Amino acid sequence: MKRTAPVAKNDFVDVVFEDLTHDGAGVAKVDGYPIFVPNVLPGEKAKIKVIKASKGYGFGRLEEIYTESPYRVDLSETDPSLYGGCQIQHMSYEGQLKFKEKQVREVLKRIGKLEDVMVHPIIGMDEPTHYRNKAQVPVGEEEGVLIAGFFKPRTHEIVDAKESIIQDPVINETVQTVKEICSELGIPAYNEESHKGVLRHIMARFGKVSGEVMVVIITRTPELPFKERIIEEITARVPNVKSIIQNINTKKTNVIFGEETRTLWGSEVIYDSIGNIKFAISARSFYQVNPEQTKVLYEKALEYAGLTGEENVIDAYCGIGTISLFLAQKAKKVFGVEIVPQAIEDARRNAELNNIQNVEFAVGEAEVVIPDWYKEGNATDVLVVDPPRKGCDEALLQTIIDMKPKKVVYVSCNPATLARDLRVLEDGGYNTVEVQPVDMFPQTMHVEAVARIELR
Ligand code: SAH
Repeated sequence: MKRTAPVAKNDFVDVVFEDLTHDGAGVAKVDGYPIFVPNVLPGEKAKIKVIKASKGYGFGRLEEIYTESPYRVDLSETDPSLYGGCQIQHMSYEGQLKFKEKQVREVLKRIGKLEDVMVHPIIGMDEPTHYRNKAQVPVGEEEGVLIAGFFKPRTHEIVDAKESIIQDPVINETVQTVKEICSELGIPAYNEESHKGVLRHIMARFGKVSGEVMVVIITRTPELPFKERIIEEITARVPNVKSIIQNINTKKTNVIFGEETRTLWGSEVIYDSIGNIKFAISARSFYQVNPEQTKVLYEKALEYAGLTGEENVIDAYCGIGTISLFLAQKAKKVFGVEIVPQAIEDARRNAELNNIQNVEFAVGEAEVVIPDWYKEGNATDVLVVDPPRKGCDEALLQTIIDMKPKKVVYVSCNPATLARDLRVLEDGGYNTVEVQPVDMFPQTMHVEAVARIELR
């Protein structure tokens, strides 16, 4: 049966918002037909104007709120450029935490059919702002002056942001200073349409524990005009800068980084620590952006692994070995698997840096490497997974079920795939003992959770 929209473009309708989408838009239903509206919150009753009505769903604009959510924060007097990368800044932090916790509970029930699994109260931040240790901002030009910030949602227009409420102040200042230096020297911004100009992005990274700062200048051209002056100014004006890097991206693409990376000044890496483990971070390495909450998450993962020093542990999707190195301090041996070769190089270097010898890293797909290990007769006591949003591959889940490690620890950045995968493990003989949500990304829709799973 062909479904038609119960509303038409330019209609005014009264709705109640039930939920939020991944990008933070409110969802209301009219006779089961979903309409997405920005800047609203669950529970709010409002008048909206329909902007677009496709067959299966529509988009609307908020006209008037009849009943406000108790969690609504009035941002009408604040500068919108502060909120780049945020989606739910108009919800109080208490509301955000409640929303995220509820989302984990509901999804585990609905998708995972886990009726009475223990979900602990979410662990939030005491201060849910200025937590990010990294920014990569696009650069544009306005009346001959460089601007840098973020793309206005769904456009290619750059919003000039002097500050971001989720970036560390050191990152905010570093980006501003580098922008000013390049502007003063007349470095032309990259123009997406004409594919001309030089400066595409400015990236800043900061080791919160070490205090070390890295600046990465991403250019279209291999040559960087006034290179020596830029270095001189950055080293004079950016406190604690330890590394200045140029990355060259000659392609017409919205991918930020190009293939070639050069060290212009100082070290190729900066260092930082999470707990007692030190990490070398290069311009291209993946490193968690909220180190404070990362520590909370990893400590939970370690607690759930319940190590005594006797165990063989597999860390699937290990990245640069962050979790592996944490686990190695309490395990007999840890095997890390990761698909990106560069990340494994970093992982090995980080093991060396910390003088940790009971880890081994392999490059490859977890769903191929781990079944191979199993076929070779290797056993594992504890298996940790930290997959990307799409969750674990079926072949990996089946191998876990065959391999029968006593414990599985699942670190997840997507509750929906966590729930789906937990169901597979439950049907394969495992029991989900408890789940701990952790808020790694305040002001955004992202939710992280770690689950303790044991063989029945
Ligand atoms: N545990 C790490 C990284 C987690 S992010 C940390 O906490 O820092 C997920 C990682 O899985 C990424 O590094 C990604 O490159 C890797 N990955 C994605 N698909 C994979 C696959 N099929 N097999 C192994 N690793 C994969």
